[in-house]
Amino acid sequence: MIDYSDHRPTQAIVDLTAIRHNIHLVESQLKDNQQIYATVKADGYGHGAVPIARAALQAGATGLAVATVDEGIELRSQGFSQVPILILGLTDSRGIAEILHYNLTITVSHLDFFKLAYEQLEETNQLGLLNLYKLTFHLALDTGMGRIGLRSVEEIEAFKAGIKAYPWTNWEGVFTHFSTAGGGPEEYIEEQYNKWVELTEAIPEAVKVRHIANSGMGMWHLDYPTDIVRLGIAMYGIDPKDDFENPITKDLRPALQLVSELIYVKKVEKGSKVSYGATYEASEDEWIGTIPIGYADGWLRHYKGVSLNVDGQACPIVGTINMDQLMIRLPREYPIGTNVTLIGTDYKGTNHASTIAKEVGTIGYEILTSIGPRVTRVYLDDSY
Ligand SMILES: *Cc1c(COP(=O)(O)O)cnc(C)c1O
Repeated sequence: MIDYSDHRPTQAIVDLTAIRHNIHLVESQLKDNQQIYATVKADGYGHGAVPIARAALQAGATGLAVATVDEGIELRSQGFSQVPILILGLTDSRGIAEILHYNLTITVSHLDFFKLAYEQLEETNQLGLLNLYKLTFHLALDTGMGRIGLRSVEEIEAFKAGIKAYPWTNWEGVFTHFSTAGGGPEEYIEEQYNKWVELTEAIPEAVKVRHIANSGMGMWHLDYPTDIVRLGIAMYGIDPKDDFENPITKDLRPALQLVSELIYVKKVEKGSKVSYGATYEASEDEWIGTIPIGYADGWLRHYKGVSLNVDGQACPIVGTINMDQLMIRLPREYPIGTNVTLIGTDYKGTNHASTIAKEVGTIGYEILTSIGPRVTRVYLDDSY
């Protein structure tokens, strides 16, 4: 990711104060024994995992969650040496030495992991690591998401019997993931919860940490107990359902603004064509501005109908979006260097990530995580 550039005005401006505000908002709903793990997978949902993790821990998060071992190693290498890092996805047993070395808490769905991991250490003459480290893991339960995890009491009984063969492990937690907390049939939440209760009755008491909440469950369903909220999208200030009206999420503050500048402005005559494929034709003499952002930056080709904000006015993208640039129609001439807001909260709803998501038929998550590494990230932080 580009940290700073004078050469291209396209920037994602990330307000770390907003991240802390959003965490405090969720925290205020929690009981004393409930914790927040800041979910910073996919480079912190496009915001930058390291600064977000730092801000989140300042605000009271007690752990970090990522999707992959590589993301966990990256955080450990950036100085997050003590805080628990939970890997939410399943990992390859061949990485066991690094998992131990970096003290990552992994998610397990199958006993085979331990057998294969042991064999891997044996083959590479690293069994000695097991005298130094314990492998901490959380067991995933599938209560209706249909993704990873054990699905029945019988499977759990077999797991309990089998895990005894691996005394070098530390079975710390158990968790599940809800598929409709961010949209879908509400009754399904109760169904999944009932399944969770049934399955966790078979989990040994020594397994202390039991968690079921993502943002949706953590914002709206705290009546279902959880030891950890794995807080993702809400920490970034976006409602999981892209809803602006919800009384519980309306105080979230979006942390990211995506801005650029007009780098070229020209008047084209009626009938002129704009961009690849010559699909756009000016219906009169028009002012056309060029912006240095394109689909390779995560401003995807199907965002074509979306308007960008220039001087408080909605300016539609015209013609196809290119790899590195796009064109918009301006209401009049504007000087080169005029600010353009692609995502921002200064105009009511217009350039909100959730509004764009609805316009192009996706979800706020995807708008944010699509923003590519070529876009410079700039951080605002009032704590210094
Ligand atoms: C990504 C993820 C989360 C965070 O979800 P949000 O809806 O962004 O809060 C929580 N738990 C698991 C297992 C995940 O994969």
